Amino acid sequence: MSERSDPGSSQRIDLHSHSTWSDGTTDVSELFAQARAAGLDVLALTDHDTVAGWSELADAVSASGVAAVPGIEVSSEADSRSVHLLALLVDPSAETALATEMARACASREDRARHMVELISADHPIRWEDVQSQVAGESTVIGRPHIADALVEAGVVPDRSAAFTEILRPAGPYYVPYYAPSPHSAVRAIGEAGGVSVLAHPGSVTRDDDLPLALLESLVEEGLDGIEVDHREHGAEETERLREFARSHDLLITGGSDFHGTGKPNQLGENLTAPEVLEAIAARATSGTRILRPGG
Ligand code: AMP
Ligand code: ZN
Ligand code: FE
Ligand code: FE
Repeated sequence: MSERSDPGSSQRIDLHSHSTWSDGTTDVSELFAQARAAGLDVLALTDHDTVAGWSELADAVSASGVAAVPGIEVSSEADSRSVHLLALLVDPSAETALATEMARACASREDRARHMVELISADHPIRWEDVQSQVAGESTVIGRPHIADALVEAGVVPDRSAAFTEILRPAGPYYVPYYAPSPHSAVRAIGEAGGVSVLAHPGSVTRDDDLPLALLESLVEEGLDGIEVDHREHGAEETERLREFARSHDLLITGGSDFHGTGKPNQLGENLTAPEVLEAIAARATSGTRILRPGG
């Protein structure tokens, strides 16, 4: 551990990224090629509510030389607030409670997307087919970014970000929620699936609100393993507040880019996780799912 902590030998580890299996714009192989170009040694694939991309990781690792941490960004909801949890090194099998919850969330995401498109189409020229043509494949987990891309294609807005601020925002007239489990049951399900749970970008969850300390405390009691402290949506003060919370509660501290390809400004490697934290994650996981390393 002391050897690995030497900054001279430090590995560059990014524990949060998306591919075309959810709302990223690069496929898994291109994602890892870009990770190599960004100088990363390790990248976690954390598509929303799916493990569909995991089967492509072994090839991507050998082609790129970048190690992969199989992961998921699990959707959950607390008090009408969307809460994201990174599930690292979980058991991917369909028999877990986690898989059941994610399947339910994905089905609801589809209904919700149709409903939102119906509402938006009253005021803007988009149809369900336009959204479908933005979705990579049948198993892709659909989200608002795909609706955003259809709106860009139709010339309604210049880019995804504008689509979110002008049309897709939660407080707007077209927003429809989707089913997601409570963060407490998600944390429990991730633990039961032998994985490591990390609260993703909690600062952006609380952007319009005070930090819901009570929520964080109760997730820690439920068995939360870590917090994604280093993330572009956290300001300097917020980052320090979260770091202090994580330290005082003995939680793992991670960082990640939340890369979505061209769908967001986030760049691979812009936030990193310390090597000793990745070691602790690997040691804590009991699922049998391992980090995939080049050459072995
Ligand atoms: P959904 O899961 O369908 O509610 O959509 C949430 C996703 O939209 C998140 O994964 C974000 O990455 C993405 N998103 C949220 N806000 C923005 C934004 N302003 N610009 C681009 N993508 C965004
Ligand atoms: Zn996303
Ligand atoms: Fe997220
Ligand atoms: Fe994400």
